[in-house]
Amino acid sequence: SKVVVAVDGTSGSGKSSTSRGAASRLGLRYLDTGAQFRAMTWWMLQHGVNIHDPQAVADSAGKPDIESGTDPLDPTITVDGDDASIAIRTEQVTNSVSPVSAVPEVRARLLELQREIIGDGGIVVEGRDIGSVVWPRAQVKLYITADPAARAARRAAEEGGSDLGATQESLLARDKIDSGRAAAPLVMAEGAQHIDTTPYSLEEVISQVVALVEA
Ligand code: C5P
Repeated sequence: SKVVVAVDGTSGSGKSSTSRGAASRLGLRYLDTGAQFRAMTWWMLQHGVNIHDPQAVADSAGKPDIESGTDPLDPTITVDGDDASIAIRTEQVTNSVSPVSAVPEVRARLLELQREIIGDGGIVVEGRDIGSVVWPRAQVKLYITADPAARAARRAAEEGGSDLGATQESLLARDKIDSGRAAAPLVMAEGAQHIDTTPYSLEEVISQVVALVEA
């Protein structure tokens, strides 16, 4: 079967830009699983589900129809047929996604979608548990991190100059929940290669990843 590249790591480490860039250079598809968790969270907020009530979240996990496009140059996501690419990036969704992602029924539902999309491979898949849970037999597994200050600076720049201190706090808060949860915590998968992107430019990291996949 064709190659599967599993890219896991912390929030704001440069995972997304790296994964998209590498997929595009390698002619592979791209799947952003974080966008799926965000889409699920957005649907819950839209439908008045109390995201701090795990039972309510579990009961709704099967309801939204989430579809992910896999073009690395234009990754789309629709929820019940509507484009949600912009809506899933709001601060409200960002601040609500970790508790939703911690609910096993949510993970089970999205795991099914993720495995269906991966199919027979030819794809770069980005998230927190790709190399450990979603596709442990991935031929290439990466664990991407960066220093908190570097991550906050990049994210704040992306968001058009939001407050550095607040951005760093929000990233660290998400890391803490994502790493400490019982269901599929963020861990370095067995066989994963660690890339600390702090000293490198995006282009340099993309080239490192392309070289690893081609090796
Ligand atoms: O990658 P991104 O920051 O968009 O992910 C948003 C959130 O989705 C993460 O903070 C995490 O809670 C959750 N997530 C997850 N498992 C994945 C991808 C994302 O739990 N594979």
